[in-house]
Amino acid sequence: MTNEELQRLVEDISWKYFERKFEHEASFNLRLRTTGGRYLLNTHNIEINKTYYEVLGLEELIGIIKHELCHYHLHLLNRGYQHKDADFKTLLKRVGGPRFCSSLPAERKKGQSKRVLIYSCVSCQQKYTRKKRMDIRKYVCGKCRGRLKLEEIISVDK
Ligand SMILES: [Zn+2]
Ligand SMILES: [Zn+2]
Repeated sequence: MTNEELQRLVEDISWKYFERKFEHEASFNLRLRTTGGRYLLNTHNIEINKTYYEVLGLEELIGIIKHELCHYHLHLLNRGYQHKDADFKTLLKRVGGPRFCSSLPAERKKGQSKRVLIYSCVSCQQKYTRKKRMDIRKYVCGKCRGRLKLEEIISVDK
């Protein structure tokens, strides 16, 4: 998926679920390591972690977009746009968004996120996700029997 396709997807979801236009920019950010996406308060742009999409698929991507759009629309409407706000919780529930995200830096707390470990095969690059660390001396790639390596650890907000 390209940035242009992502932009169109965000615009479509915004219109379909929020009945409002998304008039800023959405793009993949390859440097985001620990969150699925983020909404930038100063530019109103939305950035999405491409690894989440590649590993978790389109359905998760749509969930992340809904979550970020909740921040986006509520912020522009001067309503409670933070995770702790009732407006945010209500809207997120209405559009079926996940707890996932983007913590806005000020409200990130320890112990609120759950870890997902991503392993990849060194020969065929197949990706595997695990909740727990696995013994890579014991396990090999299910597709090609190649060696596995821990690629990255991402955290998902509860
Ligand atoms: Zn969020
Ligand atoms: Zn393999």
